[in-house]
Amino acid sequence: MKKEHLADYVLSIPDFPEKGIIFRDITSLIQDPDGLKDSVDGLIRSLEGIDFDLVIGLESRGFIFGTAIAYELHKGFVPVRKKGKLPRETISVAYDLEYGKAEVEIHKDAIKKGTKVVIVDDLIATGGTLEAACKLVEMLGGEVVKISVVMELAGLEGRKKLSGYKLESLICYE
Ligand code: IMP
Repeated sequence: MKKEHLADYVLSIPDFPEKGIIFRDITSLIQDPDGLKDSVDGLIRSLEGIDFDLVIGLESRGFIFGTAIAYELHKGFVPVRKKGKLPRETISVAYDLEYGKAEVEIHKDAIKKGTKVVIVDDLIATGGTLEAACKLVEMLGGEVVKISVVMELAGLEGRKKLSGYKLESLICYE
């Protein structure tokens, strides 16, 4: 049965992947036909009035939503992946995680100078991953015109890191 709020489709899993973390699980959202449709439609609505050429999705849950949006709006899709997964020449950005470090990459030829891009992911926590993706786009001369995510963990203040960008989330957890 169709649920009243998008958030009602998301299961919250305590102590995953580590003790003390509540994991917001989108698999329960996307396995439901209404959950999938309403979340993709919501992200598409967040892009109304935005002029852009390309959708960038962040590995791996950003691929699910990013591809659906790109298909529906007839744009290209470009993946930002964890280091070592992309086969052609890449550029990369390293960034700090809460515990440890991570590095993300993009194909060097994926974005031409002046390309307007929208970045899509399932969730913003500290904002480090999205900030690294913005850097990759800008290193190649592209412009990030909007960041759209399904969920935002507002308490981690990722939005502050991305204050120079338009950022929209469909579900906000305090
Ligand atoms: P950030 O770089 O701290 O903003 O972390 C965001 C990245 O971590 C995203 O790519 C998310 O997929 C992942 N992530 C962190 N917490 C959760 C969660 O509770 N549910 C789903 N993904 C999460």
